[in-house]
Amino acid sequence: MDTRTTRSSRALATEAVHAGRDDLAGLGLHAPPIDLSTTYPSYDSRAEAARIDAFATTGAEPDGPPVYGRLGNPTVARFETALARLEGTEAAVAFASGMAALSAVLLARGAMGLRHVVAVRPLYGCSDHLLTAGLLGSEVTWTDPAGVAGALRPDTGLVLVESPANPTLAEIDLRAVAEACGSVPLLVDNTFATPVLQRPAEHGARIVLHSATKYLGGHGDVLAGVVACDEEFAGTLRQIRFATGGVLHPLAGYLLLRGLSTLPVRVRAASANAAELARRLAADPRVERVHYPRIGGAMVSFEVHGDPHRVIAGVRLITPAVSLGSVDSLIQHPASISHRIVDADDRRGAGVSDRLLRLSVGLEDVEDLWADLDGALGGHTGTGTRQEELVQG
Ligand SMILES: *Cc1c(COP(=O)(O)O)cnc(C)c1O
Repeated sequence: MDTRTTRSSRALATEAVHAGRDDLAGLGLHAPPIDLSTTYPSYDSRAEAARIDAFATTGAEPDGPPVYGRLGNPTVARFETALARLEGTEAAVAFASGMAALSAVLLARGAMGLRHVVAVRPLYGCSDHLLTAGLLGSEVTWTDPAGVAGALRPDTGLVLVESPANPTLAEIDLRAVAEACGSVPLLVDNTFATPVLQRPAEHGARIVLHSATKYLGGHGDVLAGVVACDEEFAGTLRQIRFATGGVLHPLAGYLLLRGLSTLPVRVRAASANAAELARRLAADPRVERVHYPRIGGAMVSFEVHGDPHRVIAGVRLITPAVSLGSVDSLIQHPASISHRIVDADDRRGAGVSDRLLRLSVGLEDVEDLWADLDGALGGHTGTGTRQEELVQG
């Protein structure tokens, strides 16, 4: 696979360690500086006024210092530049969390009078909740990928999908959905795949969203979100970020840039572990069904014949916790935690069964991970019918 993105002549692995750092040698630096300033001095108020007017018109980052920390931050901008390169988009805008990023997109479209959203389940539980509860005034039509074109209305501002989806790992033909969207922007939540395995902009998505809390940060110590898109929409998002305040802290921006540098090796190594665990789980009589995406990745979901809560209580090496994408492995029960906030019938209708467990596979030795899973699955072989095949997608 050619890993060059459409907007870069350098391969993904090269961009991962160099993008957002191109000016460092000229500054006489090797590691990126962390700028913690909340404000920036200027003796020329007229020039500041002009810079604020320019930002209010286009949302373009001011040339030179950002005036105030809510308009932008140079350390965060390095991460944004790097992520845009990896996703192959013109720009990226970072937020305090994945949910702050999604909120900004919904506010941007809603402010244009385009409050209707077409969405495909399953989505991450809180994304589902944000739309279903109409917390930001949006109105949602849930459909399957084939129903997207028919669900569009004159006031549709966004089509929203996840692929592979949280937590079932269901996959969507992004190119087909992008075509069905016509002129309505398609937002793909690319948190699970990361740009290492899939770059939705190359398939026609206009907006690519990440919970950067997961693989981009990669170490379970940063809460962040980011939207990769064209420069025009990025300007609108920066204006919304300025007005609503969901900014990313510069230290988080630094950690995310650092996280990106190992993203390709982390994703590939964890994916190799995950593929092996998926294979062993699929062959195990205690397991009813395994979900593992065709494009690969480090997430595995599976349904057990026995009590899923016993598996959660039984792990010793793997951490029983929500979230994903860290260097260490995590397991959780979506019906109890990540997707608890979704109505139970809607949740089950989207394929999130009460027996489903979601495993985020880390970088531990695969034999140690298997020994832990094997012990947690216990001696119970279940009574249900054995389904041998690995459910793809
Ligand atoms: C975690 C997650 C989110 C929300 O991100 P936060 O950083 O927790 O706000 C959105 N989408 C997906 C697919 C996620 O896994």
